[in-house]
Amino acid sequence: MAKHKIAVVGGDGIGPEVIAEGLKVIAAAGVETELTHYDLGGARYLNDGTVLPDEVLAEWRDHDAIYLGAVGAPGVPPGVIERGLLLKMRFELDLYINRRPFLLKGDNGHDFVVIRENTEGTYAGEGGFLRKNTPFEIATQGSVNTRMGAERAIRYAFELAQTRNNHVTLCHKTNVLTFSGDLWERTFNDVAKEFPTVETAYNHVDAACIYFVQDPQRYDVIVTDNLFGDILTDLGGAVSGGIGLASSANMDPTRNAPSMFEPVHGSAPDIAGQNKANPIAAILSGAMMLEFLGETDAAATITAACNANLDATGSTTDIGDMLAEAVRQ
Ligand code: ATP
Repeated sequence: MAKHKIAVVGGDGIGPEVIAEGLKVIAAAGVETELTHYDLGGARYLNDGTVLPDEVLAEWRDHDAIYLGAVGAPGVPPGVIERGLLLKMRFELDLYINRRPFLLKGDNGHDFVVIRENTEGTYAGEGGFLRKNTPFEIATQGSVNTRMGAERAIRYAFELAQTRNNHVTLCHKTNVLTFSGDLWERTFNDVAKEFPTVETAYNHVDAACIYFVQDPQRYDVIVTDNLFGDILTDLGGAVSGGIGLASSANMDPTRNAPSMFEPVHGSAPDIAGQNKANPIAAILSGAMMLEFLGETDAAATITAACNANLDATGSTTDIGDMLAEAVRQ
Protein backbone atom coordinates (compact mmCIF):
# COMPACT_ATOMS: atom_id res chain seq x y z
CA MET A 1 0.00 0.00 0.00
CA ALA A 2 1.20 3.57 -0.70
CA LYS A 3 2.61 5.64 2.13
CA HIS A 4 -0.11 7.31 4.19
CA LYS A 5 0.24 11.08 4.57
CA ILE A 6 -0.48 11.90 8.19
CA ALA A 7 -0.64 15.32 9.86
CA VAL A 8 0.64 14.94 13.43
CA VAL A 9 -0.33 17.32 16.23
CA GLY A 10 1.37 16.13 19.41
CA GLY A 11 -0.01 19.17 21.21
CA ASP A 12 0.52 19.91 24.88
CA GLY A 13 1.52 18.11 28.06
CA ILE A 14 1.47 14.34 27.64
CA GLY A 15 0.14 14.68 24.05
CA PRO A 16 3.54 14.49 22.31
CA GLU A 17 4.68 11.72 24.69
CA VAL A 18 1.78 9.38 23.91
CA ILE A 19 1.72 10.19 20.17
CA ALA A 20 5.42 9.29 19.91
CA GLU A 21 4.54 5.82 21.22
CA GLY A 22 1.61 5.55 18.82
CA LEU A 23 3.87 6.36 15.87
CA LYS A 24 6.46 3.88 17.16
CA VAL A 25 3.87 1.07 17.25
CA ILE A 26 2.46 1.98 13.80
CA ALA A 27 5.98 1.79 12.33
CA ALA A 28 6.66 -1.50 14.11
CA ALA A 29 3.48 -2.94 12.56
CA GLY A 30 5.06 -2.31 9.17
CA VAL A 31 2.82 0.55 8.03
CA GLU A 32 4.60 3.19 5.96
CA THR A 33 3.75 6.79 6.72
CA GLU A 34 4.81 10.25 5.60
CA LEU A 35 4.45 12.54 8.61
CA THR A 36 4.01 16.32 8.78
CA HIS A 37 4.38 17.64 12.33
CA TYR A 38 2.40 20.72 13.41
CA ASP A 39 3.22 22.77 16.50
CA LEU A 40 -0.25 23.71 17.72
CA GLY A 41 -2.06 23.84 21.05
CA GLY A 42 -2.06 25.85 24.25
CA ALA A 43 1.71 26.36 24.43
CA ARG A 44 1.83 27.68 20.86
CA TYR A 45 -1.09 30.02 21.61
CA LEU A 46 0.68 31.38 24.71
CA ASN A 47 3.85 31.79 22.66
CA ASP A 48 2.57 33.72 19.64
CA GLY A 49 -1.25 33.76 19.68
CA THR A 50 -1.62 31.14 16.93
CA VAL A 51 -4.54 28.70 17.32
CA LEU A 52 -5.45 27.09 13.96
CA PRO A 53 -4.59 29.15 10.86
CA ASP A 54 -6.69 28.64 7.73
CA GLU A 55 -3.51 27.75 5.78
CA VAL A 56 -2.93 24.81 8.11
CA LEU A 57 -6.50 23.62 7.60
CA ALA A 58 -5.93 23.85 3.83
CA GLU A 59 -2.71 21.78 4.13
CA TRP A 60 -4.53 19.15 6.17
CA ARG A 61 -6.95 18.64 3.31
CA ASP A 62 -3.98 17.18 1.40
CA HIS A 63 -3.36 14.59 4.13
CA ASP A 64 -5.01 11.20 4.60
CA ALA A 65 -5.57 11.61 8.36
CA ILE A 66 -4.75 13.74 11.39
CA TYR A 67 -3.24 12.13 14.51
CA LEU A 68 -3.61 14.32 17.59
CA GLY A 69 -2.30 13.92 21.16
CA ALA A 70 -3.96 16.52 23.39
CA VAL A 71 -4.29 20.28 23.26
CA GLY A 72 -4.79 22.64 26.19
CA ALA A 73 -2.48 24.24 28.73
CA PRO A 74 -2.81 26.03 32.05
CA GLY A 75 -3.07 29.78 31.51
CA VAL A 76 -5.09 29.61 28.27
CA PRO A 77 -8.55 31.19 28.72
CA PRO A 78 -11.44 28.67 28.51
CA GLY A 79 -12.77 28.16 25.00
CA VAL A 80 -9.75 29.45 23.06
CA ILE A 81 -8.38 26.03 22.18
CA GLU A 82 -11.70 24.13 22.41
CA ARG A 83 -13.58 26.43 20.05
CA GLY A 84 -10.63 27.80 18.05
CA LEU A 85 -8.89 24.50 17.35
CA LEU A 86 -10.90 21.37 18.15
CA LEU A 87 -14.38 22.63 17.22
CA LYS A 88 -13.03 24.62 14.26
CA MET A 89 -11.39 21.46 12.94
CA ARG A 90 -14.59 19.44 13.40
CA PHE A 91 -16.80 22.08 11.80
CA GLU A 92 -14.50 23.13 8.92
CA LEU A 93 -13.62 19.56 7.95
CA ASP A 94 -17.19 18.43 8.74
CA LEU A 95 -16.01 15.56 10.95
CA TYR A 96 -19.59 14.67 11.77
CA ILE A 97 -19.06 11.32 13.47
CA ASN A 98 -17.34 10.93 16.80
CA ARG A 99 -16.78 7.21 17.30
CA ARG A 100 -15.64 5.92 20.67
CA PRO A 101 -15.25 2.18 21.36
CA PHE A 102 -15.30 0.70 24.85
CA LEU A 103 -14.06 -2.68 25.99
CA LEU A 104 -15.20 -3.83 29.42
CA LYS A 105 -12.66 -5.57 31.60
CA GLY A 106 -14.08 -8.93 32.67
CA ASP A 107 -17.60 -9.62 31.32
CA ASN A 108 -15.97 -11.86 28.68
CA GLY A 109 -14.57 -8.74 27.06
CA HIS A 110 -17.94 -7.25 26.10
CA ASP A 111 -17.48 -4.19 23.92
CA PHE A 112 -19.76 -1.42 22.72
CA VAL A 113 -19.41 1.73 20.64
CA VAL A 114 -20.81 5.24 21.09
CA ILE A 115 -21.54 7.26 17.94
CA ARG A 116 -21.79 10.91 18.91
CA GLU A 117 -23.08 13.53 16.46
CA ASN A 118 -20.09 15.86 16.29
CA THR A 119 -21.07 19.13 14.57
CA GLU A 120 -24.41 20.31 15.98
CA GLY A 121 -26.45 20.49 19.19
CA THR A 122 -25.38 22.88 21.92
CA TYR A 123 -21.84 22.89 20.51
CA ALA A 124 -22.86 24.74 17.34
CA GLY A 125 -22.22 28.11 19.01
CA GLU A 126 -25.76 29.47 18.72
CA GLY A 127 -26.67 31.98 21.42
CA GLY A 128 -25.32 35.08 23.08
CA PHE A 129 -25.47 37.57 25.90
CA LEU A 130 -27.84 40.42 26.63
CA ARG A 131 -26.96 43.08 29.18
CA LYS A 132 -23.70 41.29 30.00
CA ASN A 133 -22.09 42.19 33.33
CA THR A 134 -25.25 43.77 34.70
CA PRO A 135 -27.60 42.30 37.31
CA PHE A 136 -30.07 41.71 34.45
CA GLU A 137 -27.66 39.65 32.40
CA ILE A 138 -29.11 36.98 30.09
CA ALA A 139 -27.20 34.16 28.40
CA THR A 140 -28.75 31.78 25.87
CA GLN A 141 -27.11 28.73 24.31
CA GLY A 142 -29.31 27.09 21.73
CA SER A 143 -29.21 23.51 20.49
CA VAL A 144 -29.04 23.26 16.71
CA ASN A 145 -30.46 20.02 15.31
CA THR A 146 -30.87 19.42 11.60
CA ARG A 147 -32.60 16.47 10.02
CA MET A 148 -29.50 15.93 7.89
CA GLY A 149 -27.15 16.05 10.89
CA ALA A 150 -29.17 13.59 12.95
CA GLU A 151 -29.82 11.33 9.97
CA ARG A 152 -26.21 10.91 8.89
CA ALA A 153 -25.10 10.06 12.44
CA ILE A 154 -27.98 7.61 12.90
CA ARG A 155 -27.39 5.96 9.51
CA TYR A 156 -23.70 5.52 10.34
CA ALA A 157 -24.69 3.83 13.63
CA PHE A 158 -27.01 1.38 11.85
CA GLU A 159 -24.38 0.55 9.22
CA LEU A 160 -21.85 -0.05 11.98
CA ALA A 161 -24.30 -2.27 13.90
CA GLN A 162 -24.67 -4.44 10.80
CA THR A 163 -20.95 -5.25 11.04
CA ARG A 164 -21.29 -6.05 14.77
CA ASN A 165 -24.23 -7.40 16.79
CA ASN A 166 -27.15 -5.76 14.95
CA HIS A 167 -28.39 -3.59 17.80
CA VAL A 168 -28.65 0.22 18.04
CA THR A 169 -29.80 2.27 21.05
CA LEU A 170 -30.82 5.90 20.69
CA CYS A 171 -30.00 7.99 23.79
CA HIS A 172 -31.75 11.34 24.20
CA LYS A 173 -34.12 13.11 26.57
CA THR A 174 -37.28 13.11 24.48
CA ASN A 175 -39.56 13.57 27.48
CA VAL A 176 -38.15 17.05 28.21
CA LEU A 177 -36.40 18.15 24.99
CA THR A 178 -39.61 17.80 23.05
CA PHE A 179 -38.39 19.58 19.89
CA SER A 180 -34.87 18.26 19.33
CA GLY A 181 -35.78 14.90 20.90
CA ASP A 182 -38.77 14.59 18.60
CA LEU A 183 -36.64 15.25 15.52
CA TRP A 184 -34.06 12.69 16.65
CA GLU A 185 -36.67 10.04 17.50
CA ARG A 186 -38.59 10.41 14.23
CA THR A 187 -35.36 10.34 12.25
CA PHE A 188 -34.18 7.26 14.17
CA ASN A 189 -37.46 5.44 13.49
CA ASP A 190 -37.35 6.35 9.78
CA VAL A 191 -33.76 5.18 9.32
CA ALA A 192 -34.50 1.99 11.30
CA LYS A 193 -37.00 0.96 8.57
CA GLU A 194 -34.07 0.71 6.13
CA PHE A 195 -32.35 -1.81 8.44
CA PRO A 196 -34.98 -4.45 9.26
CA THR A 197 -32.38 -6.89 10.63
CA VAL A 198 -31.09 -4.41 13.22
CA GLU A 199 -32.85 -4.37 16.61
CA THR A 200 -33.47 -0.99 18.21
CA ALA A 201 -33.88 0.42 21.70
CA TYR A 202 -34.35 3.84 23.25
CA ASN A 203 -32.93 5.10 26.59
CA HIS A 204 -33.33 8.47 28.18
CA VAL A 205 -29.80 9.71 28.74
CA ASP A 206 -30.15 9.79 32.53
CA ALA A 207 -31.26 6.15 32.51
CA ALA A 208 -28.33 5.36 30.19
CA CYS A 209 -25.95 6.72 32.87
CA ILE A 210 -27.29 4.09 35.27
CA TYR A 211 -27.08 1.30 32.68
CA PHE A 212 -23.50 2.28 31.77
CA VAL A 213 -22.53 1.53 35.36
CA GLN A 214 -24.90 -1.35 36.19
CA ASP A 215 -25.62 -3.14 32.92
CA PRO A 216 -23.40 -2.02 30.02
CA GLN A 217 -23.69 -5.48 28.46
CA ARG A 218 -27.05 -4.39 27.02
CA TYR A 219 -25.30 -2.12 24.53
CA ASP A 220 -23.87 -2.78 21.08
CA VAL A 221 -24.00 0.58 19.24
CA ILE A 222 -25.32 3.76 20.89
CA VAL A 223 -26.16 6.87 18.89
CA THR A 224 -26.66 10.23 20.58
CA ASP A 225 -26.30 13.98 20.21
CA ASN A 226 -23.20 16.08 20.74
CA LEU A 227 -23.57 17.06 24.41
CA PHE A 228 -25.03 13.77 25.66
CA GLY A 229 -22.31 11.96 23.72
CA ASP A 230 -19.57 14.03 25.30
CA ILE A 231 -20.78 13.14 28.79
CA LEU A 232 -21.71 9.50 28.11
CA THR A 233 -18.32 8.76 26.56
CA ASP A 234 -16.46 10.05 29.61
CA LEU A 235 -18.64 7.73 31.68
CA GLY A 236 -17.91 4.95 29.19
CA GLY A 237 -14.20 5.53 29.73
CA ALA A 238 -14.62 5.39 33.49
CA VAL A 239 -16.55 2.07 33.45
CA SER A 240 -14.22 0.42 30.96
CA GLY A 241 -10.80 0.73 32.47
CA GLY A 242 -10.08 4.43 32.75
CA ILE A 243 -9.09 7.45 30.77
CA GLY A 244 -5.69 6.07 29.83
CA LEU A 245 -7.39 3.50 27.58
CA ALA A 246 -10.19 5.47 25.88
CA SER A 247 -9.67 6.10 22.14
CA SER A 248 -11.64 8.15 19.68
CA ALA A 249 -12.14 9.02 16.02
CA ASN A 250 -13.59 12.25 14.60
CA MET A 251 -14.61 11.19 11.15
CA ASP A 252 -15.91 12.28 7.80
CA PRO A 253 -16.98 8.85 6.54
CA THR A 254 -17.47 10.31 3.04
CA ARG A 255 -13.68 10.95 2.97
CA ASN A 256 -14.15 14.44 1.58
CA ALA A 257 -11.75 15.63 4.30
CA PRO A 258 -9.16 13.82 6.44
CA SER A 259 -10.50 12.27 9.64
CA MET A 260 -8.87 12.96 13.01
CA PHE A 261 -7.88 10.34 15.58
CA GLU A 262 -7.08 11.17 19.22
CA PRO A 263 -7.12 9.73 22.73
CA VAL A 264 -10.08 10.93 24.81
CA HIS A 265 -7.86 12.20 27.63
CA GLY A 266 -6.47 15.71 27.86
CA SER A 267 -2.96 17.08 28.21
CA ALA A 268 -2.71 16.00 31.89
CA PRO A 269 -0.29 18.76 32.96
CA ASP A 270 -0.02 17.09 36.38
CA ILE A 271 1.96 14.18 34.94
CA ALA A 272 3.48 15.77 31.81
CA GLY A 273 7.21 15.35 31.21
CA GLN A 274 7.51 12.47 33.66
CA ASN A 275 7.23 9.51 31.27
CA LYS A 276 4.24 8.36 33.34
CA ALA A 277 1.28 8.71 30.95
CA ASN A 278 -0.42 5.57 29.71
CA PRO A 279 0.03 5.61 25.90
CA ILE A 280 -2.55 2.87 25.19
CA ALA A 281 -5.43 5.29 24.40
CA ALA A 282 -3.23 7.03 21.83
CA ILE A 283 -2.01 3.71 20.40
CA LEU A 284 -5.60 2.41 20.09
CA SER A 285 -6.57 5.68 18.39
CA GLY A 286 -3.69 5.08 15.97
CA ALA A 287 -5.14 1.62 15.26
CA MET A 288 -8.53 3.20 14.47
CA MET A 289 -6.71 5.51 12.06
CA LEU A 290 -5.03 2.56 10.34
CA GLU A 291 -8.36 0.76 10.02
CA PHE A 292 -9.87 3.84 8.40
CA LEU A 293 -6.88 4.02 6.02
CA GLY A 294 -7.48 0.42 4.92
CA GLU A 295 -4.60 -1.11 6.93
CA THR A 296 -7.00 -3.58 8.49
CA ASP A 297 -4.44 -6.27 9.39
CA ALA A 298 -2.09 -3.86 11.16
CA ALA A 299 -5.07 -2.22 12.90
CA ALA A 300 -6.33 -5.59 14.16
CA THR A 301 -2.84 -6.65 15.32
CA ILE A 302 -2.29 -3.41 17.27
CA THR A 303 -5.78 -3.48 18.80
CA ALA A 304 -5.33 -7.10 19.89
CA ALA A 305 -1.91 -6.33 21.42
CA CYS A 306 -3.37 -3.37 23.35
CA ASN A 307 -6.41 -5.32 24.51
CA ALA A 308 -4.17 -8.13 25.76
CA ASN A 309 -2.16 -5.60 27.79
CA LEU A 310 -4.79 -3.25 29.23
CA ASP A 311 -3.32 -3.76 32.69
CA ALA A 312 0.23 -2.97 31.58
CA THR A 313 2.20 -0.89 34.06
CA GLY A 314 5.47 0.92 33.55
CA SER A 315 6.65 4.10 31.92
CA THR A 316 5.14 5.60 28.77
CA THR A 317 8.12 4.47 26.71
CA ASP A 318 8.24 1.00 28.33
CA ILE A 319 4.61 0.32 27.41
CA GLY A 320 5.20 1.68 23.89
CA ASP A 321 8.32 -0.49 23.46
CA MET A 322 6.50 -3.59 24.72
CA LEU A 323 3.58 -3.07 22.32
CA ALA A 324 5.92 -2.26 19.41
CA GLU A 325 7.72 -5.55 20.07
CA ALA A 326 4.37 -7.40 20.24
CA VAL A 327 3.27 -6.17 16.79
CA ARG A 328 6.67 -6.16 15.02
CA GLN A 329 6.52 -7.63 11.53
P1 ATP B 1 -8.43 18.65 29.59
O1 ATP B 1 -9.16 19.89 29.94
O2 ATP B 1 -7.37 18.84 28.54
O3 ATP B 1 -9.32 17.47 29.32
P2 ATP B 1 -8.00 17.67 32.27
O4 ATP B 1 -6.84 17.88 33.22
O5 ATP B 1 -9.36 18.09 32.66
O6 ATP B 1 -7.55 18.30 30.89
P3 ATP B 1 -6.99 15.15 31.58
O7 ATP B 1 -5.83 15.85 30.99
O8 ATP B 1 -7.60 14.06 30.78
O9 ATP B 1 -8.13 16.15 31.92
O10 ATP B 1 -6.55 14.59 33.00
C1 ATP B 1 -7.48 14.13 33.98
C2 ATP B 1 -6.75 13.21 34.96
O11 ATP B 1 -6.47 11.96 34.32
C3 ATP B 1 -5.41 13.76 35.42
O12 ATP B 1 -5.20 13.45 36.77
C4 ATP B 1 -4.40 13.05 34.56
O13 ATP B 1 -3.16 12.88 35.16
C5 ATP B 1 -5.09 11.70 34.30
N1 ATP B 1 -4.72 11.19 32.97
C6 ATP B 1 -5.15 11.67 31.78
N2 ATP B 1 -4.62 10.98 30.76
C7 ATP B 1 -3.82 10.03 31.31
C8 ATP B 1 -3.00 9.01 30.74
N3 ATP B 1 -2.86 8.81 29.43
N4 ATP B 1 -2.31 8.23 31.62
C9 ATP B 1 -2.44 8.40 32.94
N5 ATP B 1 -3.21 9.35 33.51
C10 ATP B 1 -3.89 10.16 32.72
